[in-house]
Amino acid sequence: MGRKKIVAGNWKMNTSLSEAITLATQIVELSDNKLEVEKILFPPFPFITSVGQITKDNLHFFIGAQNCSEYQNGAYTGEISASMLHSIGCSYVLIGHSERRQYFNETSEQLILKMKNALTLNIKVVFCFGEKLEQRKQNLHFNTVKQQLTEVLSVFSENDLQNVILAYEPVWAIGTGETATPEQAQEMHAYVRTVITEIFSKQAAENTSILYGGSCNAQNAKQLFSCLDVDGGLIGGASLKAQDFNTICQSFN
Ligand code: PEP
Repeated sequence: MGRKKIVAGNWKMNTSLSEAITLATQIVELSDNKLEVEKILFPPFPFITSVGQITKDNLHFFIGAQNCSEYQNGAYTGEISASMLHSIGCSYVLIGHSERRQYFNETSEQLILKMKNALTLNIKVVFCFGEKLEQRKQNLHFNTVKQQLTEVLSVFSENDLQNVILAYEPVWAIGTGETATPEQAQEMHAYVRTVITEIFSKQAAENTSILYGGSCNAQNAKQLFSCLDVDGGLIGGASLKAQDFNTICQSFN
């Protein structure tokens, strides 16, 4: 069985409620349901329910949250728990996005707790990782990615991994307009499969979906998605334009 094709849109801290509703409505209207592409939308927390209402009758769409708490419940003002996400019908959560690692100092230990909370409630995880520019310049990109993957994933079982999608997002490509070349993306995605083989098994590596993220857009998606080990994209900026998101979803061969 081949791996699923997946395009996920990370809306980050953008849109008002009415903009989120318009964007989701346009995306669903434009979507070509003949394509076997799974689409995951990650709106800001307050708009998840409204966006979920718009996508709920389309089997190709899933709704996710951009983060969840490492705590389960209780006196943690401002936090959003995995069980809250579960109660509003979230199917996915993003864990380990570089903006969370960089601006909110999230550590692998915290990412493990967040992931455990989500997986326990059958919320699937999109686990993000990737090297910074200095690390690539110093030829440390493979080591960095291996460490990020091993520190977190080794705590989980091969069974858990079935509910995890990986997203390679080189930090130097996120929101910068500078995309990894298809060769760079393919090289890293193939390497990630060797790391997954070491931690789990060859079969686990073959079955795990690996998305590319980092300035992927309507112009470059086709080339990136044509790489053997690239199973789709995690899209930031371009996911805020319905037409571009739709073109990206149509960029598989
Ligand atoms: C992201 O935030 O996950 C991302 C890939 O952003 P962008 O597409 O804007 O680089």
